[in-house]
Amino acid sequence: MSTIFSKIIAKEIPARIVHEDELCLAFHDVSPQAPTHVLIIPKKPIASLEQLEQEDAPLLGHLWMTIAKLARELGIAESGYRVVVNCGKDGGQSVDHLHFHILGGRSLAWPPG
Ligand code: AMP
Repeated sequence: MSTIFSKIIAKEIPARIVHEDELCLAFHDVSPQAPTHVLIIPKKPIASLEQLEQEDAPLLGHLWMTIAKLARELGIAESGYRVVVNCGKDGGQSVDHLHFHILGGRSLAWPPG
């Protein structure tokens, strides 16, 4: 299924890209909820956590390693940050392409709303 994120991967619409490799893409969220708010997505069109398959395990490892690397590069690793995956309706997922929110640059409240 084509989503706004698959269009960003295809460079059909612009994004402020901070990282790209053969497996994933990371870019600034268009509506930032914190001073640093970056999304990281697999290039493989996985709709949500619910659609993951066993064969995606190495891809997930790569995504998490890239998240930690990006947090250091974005300057939020030392102060701390949060990684969020919204899944489905109650989770607040609005784009049907798996994405990890990387949020930092301010103290984040808990629990989330
Ligand atoms: P979620 O609600 O977890 O599905 O998150 C989707 C995120 O995508 C939201 O934080 C949006 O602000 C963000 N978003 C939607 N369209 C774009 C876009 N064209 N470029 C960057 N971020 C976007």
